[in-house]
Amino acid sequence: MADILTPQERSALMSRIRGINTNPELIVRRALHALGYRFRLHARDLPGRPDLVLRSRGMVIFVHGCFWHRHDCGRAYMPKTRREFWQRKFASNVERDRRTREELEAGGWEVIVVWECQLAKPSALLARLVGKLGPAGRVSKPVRGGTKVTLPRLGS
Ligand SMILES: [Zn+2]
Repeated sequence: MADILTPQERSALMSRIRGINTNPELIVRRALHALGYRFRLHARDLPGRPDLVLRSRGMVIFVHGCFWHRHDCGRAYMPKTRREFWQRKFASNVERDRRTREELEAGGWEVIVVWECQLAKPSALLARLVGKLGPAGRVSKPVRGGTKVTLPRLGS
């Protein structure tokens, strides 16, 4: 195959091709599952097909790659070649993310974004997520703008 891509472009492309179930997403899923949270994956009935859906809490989580979703963290570099192509591509990704968030929030969902770079500090990331999600365990009822949590009864 002709070498038409720069190394950065190629690695970005490869991470895109892996797409669903990329590592950062898997790491987040495993960690939350281990903490006792339960969720659905890639719910097709919701805008943007959120990576994790915690329906009873009314929350969705996206795990975003910093490059494709243009996180302001230094990983979202601009490729040196074919700038126009990339600029268009990035602009449309960002616009789609914005629209998706709006649609979800209009439907009463709370949208949580986990950035790939945050996985470098997993304990800080998990603390933030647990803070947003509330304690793991059964949630009695979906509540907008807040979470009502039912702790497991002793002895049951
Ligand atoms: Zn980032």
